Amino acid sequence: MAGVERIDGGPRSVIVVGAGIVGLSTAWFLQERGVDVTVLDRKGVAAGSSWGNAGWIAPGLAIPLNEPSVLRYGVKSLFNPKAPLHIPVKVDPALWAFLTRFAANCHWGSWTRAVRTNLPLNEESIEAYDVLTANGVAATTNPAPITAGFTSPRAATGLLRELRRMAEAGQQVPHAAVERDQLRELVPLTSDALTAGVRIDEQRFVDPGTFVHALADSVTARGGAIRIAEVTDVDATPSGVTVHARGGQTFRADAAVVATGAWLSRLAAEWGVRVPVRAGRGYSFTVPVDGEVPGPIYLPEVRVACTPYQGALRVAGTMEFRGPDEKFVPARLEAIIASTKPLLKGVRWEERTDEWVGPRPVTPDGRPLIGATRLPNLYVAGGHGMWGLAQGPATGRLLAEQITTGKQPAALIDCDPLR
Ligand SMILES: Cc1cc2nc3c(=O)[nH]c(=O)nc-3n(C[C@H](O)[C@H](O)[C@H](O)COP(=O)(O)OP(=O)(O)OC[C@H]3O[C@@H](n4cnc5c(N)ncnc54)[C@H](O)[C@@H]3O)c2cc1C
Repeated sequence: MAGVERIDGGPRSVIVVGAGIVGLSTAWFLQERGVDVTVLDRKGVAAGSSWGNAGWIAPGLAIPLNEPSVLRYGVKSLFNPKAPLHIPVKVDPALWAFLTRFAANCHWGSWTRAVRTNLPLNEESIEAYDVLTANGVAATTNPAPITAGFTSPRAATGLLRELRRMAEAGQQVPHAAVERDQLRELVPLTSDALTAGVRIDEQRFVDPGTFVHALADSVTARGGAIRIAEVTDVDATPSGVTVHARGGQTFRADAAVVATGAWLSRLAAEWGVRVPVRAGRGYSFTVPVDGEVPGPIYLPEVRVACTPYQGALRVAGTMEFRGPDEKFVPARLEAIIASTKPLLKGVRWEERTDEWVGPRPVTPDGRPLIGATRLPNLYVAGGHGMWGLAQGPATGRLLAEQITTGKQPAALIDCDPLR
């Protein structure tokens, strides 16, 4: 079907590389527009960051990473191996070039721009999930407030200030400060160490692995193909694309979208996408708890996110700048446990399962990369950092519009991969 004469000018077949939330959402919304899709992944569905994340569909907390205070925090963390932010002190010129670029974006001007760029993705986040679940994706999203717990009312002021800044930059986040007793009601697992809270309303959470698999099932039920193939290169011409995979396999289509998360730069740097994507690796595990978990729990002082998960609690945290395929570092997980233990009670830490590490796709300016590359018929979608699960479906919907109409939606102008 590739390269055929098209009456409407839009592609009829698209290859999507990467079967995470971003790639599969793009495939699904392309199908909505009548496009045949083939999804290729080197390992299978939800093999990257989209599996063990915290599962928050939390547009209200999609606060860009590049706050000025992160700089001070990052420098301190360099000398503390147990800090939630971990930067290995080793010779890696590409990593240090990335971090320098990231540091240059840690000012309020760049942060505000990132908030504004992410605004349409956040505003459409929950609705895009509703479109999926109302049209064949057999998974649920759970409405719930996210409750942040703090060791003092003073510590809570940091998040309250951030939320105020979000509002000033254009994103209103419904929230309320709560006192100790109310915090106990919202989070029965709260230990005596937590004395103040902030409730962020109108958010949702999902079991991310189950959701992404349901999305993949819906893509195949609608006639799409999902294949295992590690893509090594793409030839793109005005008449179509040829996708090359390890082992000599090739795939042809009218267009291709590369949505390979933290691995994006390996392919896309060749296509004029100069903004690098690096892996900010996070760890998670599941623990049984003695007590109710009505909704997600946020512990900003130790940078940990907890979510009700399959009758237990998923605990997620840490930002570690190592290669996406480097091995699991048990010390990172132990640091999460050591910092979180004093803040929660009734958690059976020793009985943990599902220990996992996954690479958040982080850009230096807090803005994702969504849109056309320098090559014809070749697009990228990725770099959503901490918030790709929440923003994946909205990203897929907007990019499918761009690919099929040939017009860049206004919402994607500031996400331009060629910036
Ligand atoms: C601990 C942790 C907690 C998080 N919590 C949240 C949260 O609560 N809410 C939220 O919104 N976000 C959260 N995130 C971030 C979120 O998980 C990511 O932003 C999102 O999953 C990125 O999705 P993706 O589809 O871009 O990438 P991925 O899910 O990583 O998918 C990329 C896919 O590309 C494939 N691939 C790579 N290279 C190739 C190749 N050459 N050929 C073929 N296939 C290839 C990989 O196998 C992988 O399946 C969290 C992340 C972590 C690590």
